[in-house]
Amino acid sequence: MNRSVNLLISGLGLCCLPGCNTPKQTAVLEQPNVIYIFPDQYRNSAFGFWGQEGFKEQVNFKNDPVSTPNLDAFARESVVLTSAQSNCPLSSPHRGMLFTGMYANKSGVPLNCNSTRPISSLRQDAECVSDVFSKAGYDCAYFGKLHLDYPTPNDPERPGQYVEDRMPAWDAYTPAERRHGFNYWYSYGTFDEHKNPHYWDTNGKKHEPREWSPQHEADKVVAYLKNKDNVRDTSKPFFMMVSMNPPHSPYRSFDDCMEEDYNLYKDLSLDSLLVRPNADAAMKKAECTRYYFASVTGVDRAVGQILQTLKEMGLDKNTIVVFSSDHGETMCSQGIDDPKNTPYVESMNVPFMVRYPEKIAPRVDDLMISTPDVMPTLLGLCGLEESIPAEVQGRNFAPLFYNAEASVARPSGALYIQNMDGKKVDGQVVSYFPAARGFKTDRYTIALYIDRDTQKLKRALLFDDVNDPYQMNNLPLEENKEIVVQLCAQLGATLKEIEDPWYTEKILSDMITY
Ligand code: CA
Repeated sequence: MNRSVNLLISGLGLCCLPGCNTPKQTAVLEQPNVIYIFPDQYRNSAFGFWGQEGFKEQVNFKNDPVSTPNLDAFARESVVLTSAQSNCPLSSPHRGMLFTGMYANKSGVPLNCNSTRPISSLRQDAECVSDVFSKAGYDCAYFGKLHLDYPTPNDPERPGQYVEDRMPAWDAYTPAERRHGFNYWYSYGTFDEHKNPHYWDTNGKKHEPREWSPQHEADKVVAYLKNKDNVRDTSKPFFMMVSMNPPHSPYRSFDDCMEEDYNLYKDLSLDSLLVRPNADAAMKKAECTRYYFASVTGVDRAVGQILQTLKEMGLDKNTIVVFSSDHGETMCSQGIDDPKNTPYVESMNVPFMVRYPEKIAPRVDDLMISTPDVMPTLLGLCGLEESIPAEVQGRNFAPLFYNAEASVARPSGALYIQNMDGKKVDGQVVSYFPAARGFKTDRYTIALYIDRDTQKLKRALLFDDVNDPYQMNNLPLEENKEIVVQLCAQLGATLKEIEDPWYTEKILSDMITY
């Protein structure tokens, strides 16, 4: 791929000649468009295809019994990763790492964003993935949930007030100067009424469509692709991020999903739906399973609509489409109500599929990509590796998508990060407490939790993910010393490399080699 040549061709405006009917888009055919779709809380097991030939042999987990026909077909056209990890499986920290290619200690976003946490907000000075695409000549568009900034009282309709009255405020309006290169905007901070969503557009106008949000967002994406109302510059390639909120909670009524999707699951027993042996169908939350799976099916349909439009417009061949999520969902596994923010596979293992027809051959791969790797890899996939900012901590694995045998070192594992609120002053969180760190390899998961006051080890998890894929047997550290030493060496090296607070404060240095 030669970007300079392609941009030069488009710059000459060859297709603007009189009598030329070729759409301008063809002039930049070699510079691919990118669509990054990441519904919130979509766990990697929630696909039909993992139960099908060609996929089920590649994983050691059962697929959820969900209907996802569009994503099943998409998977057969994609590189599908079995082991993509959300390192800090929580909305805002994930998004901070995704946007900046830096871990949560550098992105500016160590905690979930709300109005009590001024220390958790996307760094204004960070060069984000969208900044780089914009500078490279892309039209950049953002759709859906952002949840990446500290909310401030900047409601366009009510100057000086937050966009919501609830305190602390979670939802936010993102003014133009904080959009990091996105020239098209249809987004909100965080808001969980799935059939009563709202969005602020490029000009700060609020929209309340009273429609199931993934469906509405798919329609908006289609309108953008078709350039209704002249919203994009069709002489440019586009970079689009689409953050659907479902299958994120709430998932308890028809206010949250489409009834037609719920009907697929309504007569199935909870035991038949909760197929993971570590799940407890007697938990109160189990009733949510049908709504969660219905949301998954609805998201599949909305994604299918976007894919179909790309095909109809002849854009599919020159568009890299990535499907992922910010984190997973435990859904009654491990006996916990918290869907995320844990080192369990249900939380950390996220979908990651990349489709680029005729350029990237479909296959299943166990590449353990981490969240900060996504930005440099997206840039690398588009031939923009020279533009990866120096500050980026993640790695560009694009060559491995083009060629499984590419001479790029594969990661030996992925970091797990859990942060909590630290000190509070006048109700505002002024520091964060790095509560747990851990490391996942292709064999083991280890997670170490420390006491807030003493910083001593409070709790440990150690799983053999090969022999115990559902992590039902927490191995005692003292009986597995060699394994612990090896994992702690890898953990320490990674924490040192990213300059994590555990490294700078030498936390658990009796165990972890820094
Ligand atoms: Ca989330």
